[in-house]
Amino acid sequence: MRAVTYQSPGEVRVEEKPDPEVGTPDEAVVRVEATGVCGSDLHLYHGRIQIEPGFTLGHEYVGTVVAAGDDVTSVSEGDRVLGAFLTACGECFFCRRGDFHKCDRGRVFGHGSTLGSLQGAQADLLLVPRADMTLRRVPDGLSDEVALFAGDVMGTGYHAVEALDLEPGGSVAVLGLGPVGLCAVQVALAAGAETVLAVDSVEERLAMAGSFGGTPLHLTEDDVRGAVKQATEGRGVDGAIDAVGHPQALDMACRLARKAGTVSATGVYSTPVELHMGIVWIKSLTLRSGQANVIAHLDPVLERLASGQLDPAPLVTHHMKLDDAAEAYAIYDRREALKIVLNP
Ligand SMILES: [Zn+2]
Ligand SMILES: [Zn+2]
Repeated sequence: MRAVTYQSPGEVRVEEKPDPEVGTPDEAVVRVEATGVCGSDLHLYHGRIQIEPGFTLGHEYVGTVVAAGDDVTSVSEGDRVLGAFLTACGECFFCRRGDFHKCDRGRVFGHGSTLGSLQGAQADLLLVPRADMTLRRVPDGLSDEVALFAGDVMGTGYHAVEALDLEPGGSVAVLGLGPVGLCAVQVALAAGAETVLAVDSVEERLAMAGSFGGTPLHLTEDDVRGAVKQATEGRGVDGAIDAVGHPQALDMACRLARKAGTVSATGVYSTPVELHMGIVWIKSLTLRSGQANVIAHLDPVLERLASGQLDPAPLVTHHMKLDDAAEAYAIYDRREALKIVLNP
């Protein structure tokens, strides 16, 4: 089979590898029909996160089950499935609490030995451990490229909004309109938020947030704080999401949230961040953070995708062939694409 592998900083390659086979009875093999290139793949691409040369990349996938072990009961051969970007054991302390994202034996696809040595999904075939936990059937009528979002990006947007404990009619600010931020705009509106203020400095992204029903605000050209005050009778928003993972975005989220509001720190923070704890304290803010519990959100997110309440299709700006992965990574790295889907 073909697989997109990391070589050295700035270089990926399509290589021939042996086909994976079911080993333990809880595993399944999926023939990948669509796979995403994600922002976190760029960290690997640049060597900011260590990965072994020759390791297969990718963690977003939709495909068809071509083999399943004897213990796999929720999906079977021939089923069209999508999967979460990570696996969980289902048995440890954290899994029993439902905190699958913090599983003691959790493994992430396509991230090398540091995150569990699980070969990635940018390939013709993918070996999926704990298939009952990791995979779900794709509801009829849902396209590959939309279903793909449930396993990572939309699941993360969902997590960011769920952390806000919104009440119907509430107000939200989303800082950063990359794929996760744009998904969070949709989730917040679907969850009944009346006002969703969407902040970025890229016109196309602002326009897309506007087309979803959000109120676009340009980070530098608009008076963001003034607009938030005006929309909330001067209080600030009920919940603010940092979908960037940047100190300034987190600071702004804390300043835009109302007293006793919630800040959802969703972006990936790769360097230490100085937080103005005095603001958090004096406003009695609740700060929620962490990687998304995507396995726990698979079913509700799929339900909302199937009903059309959530529709990330406009985010997919590029469809490319698996063989063109090197070009896809270069395009994504130059920020010329919002979301790239590779079709093997
Ligand atoms: Zn991803
Ligand atoms: Zn576990």
